[in-house]
Amino acid sequence: MVMDNLITGNYNNIIQHSANPKFEFIHHNVSNHIHLIGDLDWVVHFASPASPIDYLNLPIETLKVNSLGTHNSLGLALAKGAKYFLASTSEVYGDPLKHPQPEDYWGNVNPIGPRGVYDEAKRFAEAITMAYHNKHGLDTRIVRIFNCYGPRLRPDDGRVVSSFIKQALNDEPFTVYGEGNQTRSFQYVSDLVDGIRRLMEVEHHQPVNIGNPEEKTVVELAHIVKELTGSASEVVYKPLPVDDPCRRLPDITKARTLLGWSPRVDLRTGLTRTIEWYRNLDAATKARSGTPA
Ligand code: UDP
Repeated sequence: MVMDNLITGNYNNIIQHSANPKFEFIHHNVSNHIHLIGDLDWVVHFASPASPIDYLNLPIETLKVNSLGTHNSLGLALAKGAKYFLASTSEVYGDPLKHPQPEDYWGNVNPIGPRGVYDEAKRFAEAITMAYHNKHGLDTRIVRIFNCYGPRLRPDDGRVVSSFIKQALNDEPFTVYGEGNQTRSFQYVSDLVDGIRRLMEVEHHQPVNIGNPEEKTVVELAHIVKELTGSASEVVYKPLPVDDPCRRLPDITKARTLLGWSPRVDLRTGLTRTIEWYRNLDAATKARSGTPA
């Protein structure tokens, strides 16, 4: 059963499951009370805008889904005797002063900055999840997800990977924010899913980082996308958004030792698959509008 209000999502991403008799889609905003009939094994709470431009455009919705939505979904899990899985984020570390970031680093977050609506709400979500575990004995998990990319990443979601691929395929300039020497580490979606599945299988209630420890600057990423697409795009520099983290790199020692997990898809392989998906999407869109691909 999937519940979503599709505020940033797209039903086409899950349409391939609609013929499965076990699959059910409920259009609902989990920030409102959730009423469900029947049993549940797991409540997996991944609902939230997660791209910076989405949570800047939807600040109240982002705060509500990670506070009220987390509370509602925890209450649902408790009522059903289900296990509970929370998607948290590397943004709980804010603009980190420690590198790489281990789970016991408390972070450096500006509560009233533009990113505060996401960062603080996710920190609250972690706090209330731990409280339900400690107070009610709920069987909980918390994953801290670092930058993730892959097919189905919304082309206009404003994230760096989707933006650069789209720009490269249209021979438009790469919009690099600041000087482009800020770093991220990008994990391919199948690695993330593998980490999540492994975390479901162990009894561990503290947060676990899942991310790729290969650090890249934003300019390096632009050059790799240029090379893989064969694009003529050049870099243009734009102002750095407020509170944009300078460096982000996961310490994945815990995931390695606890889950036996480490990423298997390197950046070039993952980007090649993602570029292919964007090319097909472009061709399909052009075919629908009658434009030659
Ligand atoms: N970025 C950029 N150009 C873009 C989009 C993003 O230079 O068109 C930068 C952004 O400033 C940040 C990094 O790329 O330093 C990653 O941004 P993204 O929005 O993908 O996710 P974040 O890690 O900031 O949540």
